[in-house]
Amino acid sequence: MTTPPSRDLTVTEVRLTPILVADPPLLNTQGVHQPYTPRLIVEVVTADGTTGLGETYGDTKYLDLARPLADRLVGRRAGDLNRLFTEADAVAVDADQVSGKVDVGGLRGVQTADKLRLSVLSALEVACLDALGKSLGLPVHALLGGKVRDTVDYSAYLFYKWAGHPEGVRAEKDDWGAALDPAGVVAQARTFTERYGFTSFKLKGGVFPPDEEIAAVRALAAAFPGHPLRLDPNGAWSVETSLKVAGELGDVLEYLEDPALGTPAMAEVAARTGVPLATNMCVTTFAEIKEAFTRDAVQVVLSDHHYWGGLRNTQQLAAVCRTFGVGVSMHSNTHLGISLAAMTHVAATVPNLHHACDSHYPWQSEDVLTERLTFENGAVRVSDAPGLGVELDRDRLAALHRRWLDDDGTLRDRDDAAAMRVAHPEWETPAVPRW
Ligand SMILES: [Mg+2]
Repeated sequence: MTTPPSRDLTVTEVRLTPILVADPPLLNTQGVHQPYTPRLIVEVVTADGTTGLGETYGDTKYLDLARPLADRLVGRRAGDLNRLFTEADAVAVDADQVSGKVDVGGLRGVQTADKLRLSVLSALEVACLDALGKSLGLPVHALLGGKVRDTVDYSAYLFYKWAGHPEGVRAEKDDWGAALDPAGVVAQARTFTERYGFTSFKLKGGVFPPDEEIAAVRALAAAFPGHPLRLDPNGAWSVETSLKVAGELGDVLEYLEDPALGTPAMAEVAARTGVPLATNMCVTTFAEIKEAFTRDAVQVVLSDHHYWGGLRNTQQLAAVCRTFGVGVSMHSNTHLGISLAAMTHVAATVPNLHHACDSHYPWQSEDVLTERLTFENGAVRVSDAPGLGVELDRDRLAALHRRWLDDDGTLRDRDDAAAMRVAHPEWETPAVPRW
């Protein structure tokens, strides 16, 4: 009998590094992306000298929770995650952050204490799985039960956008140009296919009156006949407007994403159209599933391991969806390569993932990795290297952290409406439904 090598996977340190990462002027119903957006990079160090990586939102409300939650991880084994999640309920959340607030930056439903905690725990979980995988010589997908596919499909995430951030604002330049009408959207889609090989397309809507966005999707359908198309106005439409758009685009849409806000409105739309509805706004926690599924309000749930609480919770969500015959795919917010790697590992383990996942990654020109992840034919190859299969570039991390340190506080909390007011001082977050 051989004795297994001894590996001390006790967590000895958790390093938390907030950064600001360049973001192009992408438009949504709330406003426009800031020139730099906050992210938090997590490093979990174990006693055997292994370092695992995680990534999540970097706004102040997450940073405030990250230190007390990280302190609860120190001294535990990296594999002692279930108890960490259970005991995290004891970590207090500032009541101001959750009193009926709708999350403004991420457009992902109502803010709750649980969702805030889970958004931080997810980064700790991913970092622990990365450390475990590295130490054991196993890829993260193997720790999750193993991959059922070797590549994970992603969709091109199209945005209405300005050519650049407002004059006089410190920002990185991008080479995508403007996209403010159907021709601009189609040109952007062509660039996505040329650079990354994407074959399905999602347009972030809720920016212009619905007729203009219908025209943009029609133009995409003409330019890419037969390809799956999606439109996501982030709940900006009334039930009647949602039904009008569904009626006009039903023949070309793979699904319509959050046309109206909240489960009752989505249920009403769903009852009166055959176009499948997807959501990352009315089903964002396990507690919200029962009402939405029993009312048949959504046909596809877009998971997001950040706010669902990590990779294992994502697998559990997928299992619930399978039970109810609801489809599953993946939502994305601005993120870097650590999260893309985590998304790809968990997506590779979900048998019932039948739609291409969303990813902002092509919009992010900066990363903290030694090597960027790549899309081939619109897909990311699932890594079989130990852990997530990515490596931290400490110089890049330090430079992006320096930018965060140098910021006077205006960019440390993402606020798309405030970013819009730089160009349009009269801008106010639109009342919903906007149309
Ligand atoms: Mg969405």
